[in-house]
Amino acid sequence: MKIRFWGVRGSIPVPGTHTNRYGGNTSCVEVRPRSGPQIIIDAGTGIRKLGKEMMQADFGHGNGICHLLISHTHWDHIQGLPFFAPLYQAGNQFYVYARQRDDTHLRAVFASQSEDPYFPVPFNSVKANLAFRELVEGARFEIGPVKVGCTRLNHPWIAMAYRLDCDGASMVYSTDTAPFTDILLEHEFIATPPVLGAPLVPEHAEKLRRMRDGLIQLSQGADMLIYDTQFTPEEYRSKPHWGHSTPYDAIDIALAAKVKTLVLFHHAPERTDDELDEVLAEVRSLTRSTGLEIVAAHEQLEVSLGAN
Ligand SMILES: [Zn+2]
Ligand SMILES: [Zn+2]
Repeated sequence: MKIRFWGVRGSIPVPGTHTNRYGGNTSCVEVRPRSGPQIIIDAGTGIRKLGKEMMQADFGHGNGICHLLISHTHWDHIQGLPFFAPLYQAGNQFYVYARQRDDTHLRAVFASQSEDPYFPVPFNSVKANLAFRELVEGARFEIGPVKVGCTRLNHPWIAMAYRLDCDGASMVYSTDTAPFTDILLEHEFIATPPVLGAPLVPEHAEKLRRMRDGLIQLSQGADMLIYDTQFTPEEYRSKPHWGHSTPYDAIDIALAAKVKTLVLFHHAPERTDDELDEVLAEVRSLTRSTGLEIVAAHEQLEVSLGAN
């Protein structure tokens, strides 16, 4: 399968001279199996440019089929969707997957961001056919030849990690998540950070342990692990309740799961190209003896895994 990165940034798009090389668009990753339908993970602003390319082929003629996996519906993971041209072409078929909420159907979550006064084009004017598939944690399903698994992450209002197995290769997409050590993030707004190092409520510690085990199991032996590495260790210490990790947390999971390549992803909006180069150089030198390969995602990075 082929994997292409269209948006690698977290939180908000950051175009500009200091982010040109890695790119300023928010999260969007394309996965193309050797055969079978196209898969897109997350619909941040990177999806706009991908949509333009898709319109040059089947989707421009209204006979495209695409499966869209959403990690969670925070803005930086869905805000490109209203500008995704294939949605406005009749005949195209989209399957949209995200975690089931107790209170709102997935379709309403997407529709609400296109409502007046936020956007002029209502969601019900989308011409493509949309089918929504609400997922429960730990769901396993197939998209043509691709086997898909998921597990929950430690993030405010919860995000899902996905594993895709196809063409003799495997990749895991794991963003957004805090490490599983200091705070349990679920369905409440936490305004003040916890005291790091303070003992956790036993019930929270147990939930975090199970969450970490679930992610390591999902990532076991993967060829590629794409991971939320938004924070430096210093930033994490002041914002552990924001739900993001450092490259060192990602390395911990990658080594525990024996993955081959770790991809640093969901870069902080304020991180410049030069700073990202430095982060990458440092973590590579620290892990040289482990055999773990580490790359930092940039827009248009293309990786081939397994048979293509
Ligand atoms: Zn995010
Ligand atoms: Zn988020």
